[in-house]
Amino acid sequence: MTSADVVVIGGGVNGTSTAFNLARLGVKRVTLLERRALAAGATGKSGSLVRMHYANEAESRLAWESLKIFRDFDAAVGGDCGFEAPGFVQIVGPAHAEALAVNVAMQQRLGIDTRLVSREELRDIVPGVRVDDVGGAAWEPRSGFADPSATTFAFAEAARRLGATVEPDCEALRIVVEGGRVAGVETSRSPIATPVVVAVPGAWAARLLAPLGLDFGLSPYRIQVSIFRWPEGFTRGHPALIDATRAAWIRPEGRASTLIGVELGAGHADPDKYDEGVDEAYVALCREALAARLPAFERATMRGGWAGMIMMSPDGRPIIDQIPSVPGLFVMLGDSGTSFKTSPAIGRCLAEWIVKGKPETADLTPFRSTRFAEGQPWIDATDYGIERPTISR
Ligand SMILES: Cc1cc2nc3c(=O)[nH]c(=O)nc-3n(C[C@H](O)[C@H](O)[C@H](O)COP(=O)(O)OP(=O)(O)OC[C@H]3O[C@@H](n4cnc5c(N)ncnc54)[C@H](O)[C@@H]3O)c2cc1C
Repeated sequence: MTSADVVVIGGGVNGTSTAFNLARLGVKRVTLLERRALAAGATGKSGSLVRMHYANEAESRLAWESLKIFRDFDAAVGGDCGFEAPGFVQIVGPAHAEALAVNVAMQQRLGIDTRLVSREELRDIVPGVRVDDVGGAAWEPRSGFADPSATTFAFAEAARRLGATVEPDCEALRIVVEGGRVAGVETSRSPIATPVVVAVPGAWAARLLAPLGLDFGLSPYRIQVSIFRWPEGFTRGHPALIDATRAAWIRPEGRASTLIGVELGAGHADPDKYDEGVDEAYVALCREALAARLPAFERATMRGGWAGMIMMSPDGRPIIDQIPSVPGLFVMLGDSGTSFKTSPAIGRCLAEWIVKGKPETADLTPFRSTRFAEGQPWIDATDYGIERPTISR
């Protein structure tokens, strides 16, 4: 039997961010357990868009606090997270122009560098973009994307430098509860005695939560992306972009390709035996959505794609909480395909909560685990209707 002050379960970007921030705040004995390799879950498959545009203040704030860290990663964490800032554009149809304006005003109040742009400006920002069906567009010049595996490896390395133990190939088999509170973790190696566990197990959460009687209605989903070569003459590139009219999210990939995901085509799957390749039908959906916004891509060469597993919560928003019925258990669950960009702040908030008694960087109340039992699932009044992109970007 070994022991730790805090055990973090899950070596994705949120687990490693939490381990790093715990060590940064002075927790001496932090152990992170990863059943496979770091970034083996959703993180390594992520499209990794980093944008501030949400239809709610809580997530915009987490994204904004995280952007500050992505931008200054070497000083704030150490190493290179591969952050690039070609900017980000949110496009909505005419029915949602008003909601877009409300959301942009909210983001501006938080200090986020964003503004509404006209169709003409949109044409300058996104060369070759189709604008006749655009009801509104918002521009974030300082957003973009990062490298999700590099970010995770850098968080883990920084945690190690500060004294944390990172154990790949070590599965947490059971969270041990004694006397009504967390007492340890049984692992595929030796058991660890600890008063605090942070569970960040992504799509593999069920087997840890069920024995504790915890059921938040989480559902593992397989989601895909595909990549297209830039067609001849398409040389000026483009920023990252979400097109709510097509539920599509897009960003540059490498020197001359575009990565795209669309919401259609996501489906429930078993995270232990899912197909990691991309479906042919999905590639066709992506091509259609991409060419609808950037017509030059109509006959672009498909370069590849893949699938990854995320965990959807019932309302498509993460659960970040200290579980009231299990003192000592903190969680980040139900990433809902949108929790790469917020991971620097999520780890920081969880570490503050454990070390200082409450999160200081942002208010996590909206992410509470009890919202479903309270009959108050998270609904954004100013989302973009049925096309609302809830997953994978
Ligand atoms: C195709 C795709 C595109 C995406 N695009 C974006 C995007 O553009 N922007 C964005 O912000 N987000 C995006 N996401 C979502 C984002 O990648 C995830 O929300 C984020 O990576 C979740 O990180 P995590 O650390 O919470 O979970 P994960 O990365 O899933 O990590 C969980 C880890 O826990 C490990 N684990 C599980 N159970 C145990 C156990 N019992 N013991 C030990 N280890 C365990 C797993 O092996 C895994 O490595 C996308 C996701 C996918 C799949």
